[in-house]
Amino acid sequence: MKENLIQQLRFCSALPSLPSVALKIIDLANSADTDMIQISHYISLDPALTAKILKTANSPLYKSRRTSSNIRQAVCVLGTHAVISIALSFSLTRTLMQHTESSIGKTSSDLFWRRSIIAALASKALGSKINLKLADDLFLAGLLQDIGIPAFFSIIPEAYAKIYSSALSHDALLQAEYEAFGTGHDELGYTLLKRWNLPSYVAIACMTSHNQSSTQKGEPTIADCVAASGYIADYFLNPGDTEKIAQLMTRLYARLNLDGQSLLNIIEKIKDELRTIEELFEFSICSENELNALMLEAQELLSIQSLVKIRDLEDKTQRDGLTGAHNRAFFDSVFEREFIFSTQHSTPLTIAMIDVDHFKKVNDNHGHVVGDALLIALVRAIFGQIRQDDLLCRYGGEEFVLILPGTPIASARKLLIRLKNSIEAISYKLDSEEHIGITVSMGIATNLDKGNIFTSHDNMLEAADLALYASKHAGRNKIVEWDHALSMQNQI
Ligand code: GH3
Ligand code: MG
Ligand code: MG
Repeated sequence: MKENLIQQLRFCSALPSLPSVALKIIDLANSADTDMIQISHYISLDPALTAKILKTANSPLYKSRRTSSNIRQAVCVLGTHAVISIALSFSLTRTLMQHTESSIGKTSSDLFWRRSIIAALASKALGSKINLKLADDLFLAGLLQDIGIPAFFSIIPEAYAKIYSSALSHDALLQAEYEAFGTGHDELGYTLLKRWNLPSYVAIACMTSHNQSSTQKGEPTIADCVAASGYIADYFLNPGDTEKIAQLMTRLYARLNLDGQSLLNIIEKIKDELRTIEELFEFSICSENELNALMLEAQELLSIQSLVKIRDLEDKTQRDGLTGAHNRAFFDSVFEREFIFSTQHSTPLTIAMIDVDHFKKVNDNHGHVVGDALLIALVRAIFGQIRQDDLLCRYGGEEFVLILPGTPIASARKLLIRLKNSIEAISYKLDSEEHIGITVSMGIATNLDKGNIFTSHDNMLEAADLALYASKHAGRNKIVEWDHALSMQNQI
């Protein structure tokens, strides 16, 4: 099927033939010693194209101080290489737009070209963001990356229309093409651009831009920008999709190492240039209102994205890797803050030190893996019972501290009894089918309840530690509350 399609493409009469000026420009593009006079000459044979190149040279896209009044000056301002790409962008779009309108209808054709032109601008903006100095090549490659789609429509219109209209995304379309025809619009586009003898960087960018792999090493290339540009265009055409922007961010980061702020800059740049491009191509893409709404939405979505990312990152640095409880560093910073809050606002604060009983024996008898699994189960059992404001921290080894802000001793006591019971209920099944469990000892200290007033957070922690020691001393698997005369232990 694939070879057949590619053969058909070579001889397909339904495809437009390129205008003679485009053919000449392609010749010049492929020749090593093209000069400005030759290019000016060929462009001036096409008055409409000449007008466009002049307009482009004088547009805000090329911030030249000198106004060009004839094609030679414009070629001088823009440079030979840029003029070739710009002239090809205009003359190919003009021919192909007429072709797609008649082959797939005005609505589909307009959608196709809106996506292509936004992708062209996006590809150019991406290139400038990563300092690739090939703005006009990037524009042309971005513009033509999906030229395989009209090619498909020309060769097998009915069969392709079915696939095209049922694909939910651009990636899904490409996949469906490969499944149905053994080839996709990337390969077909490449073949067509080669047939037209377009410079190989355009054909290659079109071929590789649909490559999903984002792990390639080395400096980003034109193809990377072109590939990402399609996703940006999709976002412009379907804003409001949080998932889309998240996917877009992941791709930009993986392929081009660009972050959310860079994406906003790129969207802003596309927005700035879109009006000029609409004028030059005489084709309307987005209304001013749509553009402003899109920009605002992207700002909002990206700020949420970065907040989530920061929160994830913070969470990772604050948590213990084995159990998921907060780590010691987190405890050190938070406990002092909670203590100060309790003192300043005269609200009670309770902490409980929790230490696994005879844990060394568990490790010695059953190994560290079993020990680890029991620590994980213990933390899970505690997480299952505490409120969102309560903080469970791994103080070290098999010792944990639970911070219960705003909690008086009476309710802390009830909670800790429940916790102790659920920890006792943990049953770990060994390979030998035998079940083992653990118990814990707890020492509690409460600030600003029952007359307890600690002078510092260290002081309060020492009190809880003393209570824990008392609980171990009393035989383990017990909860002991600190009071003024700890010697008179208050066993529950
Ligand atoms: P006690 O009832 O007096 O607290 O006795 P214990 O055996 O629990 O106390 P000890 O402090 O003597 O031993 C604590 C043990 O906890 C020793 C150490 O190997 C084990 N442990 C600490 N952290 C981890 C861990 O992350 N994983 C495992 N598997 N064991 C750990
Ligand atoms: Mg212990
Ligand atoms: Mg210990």
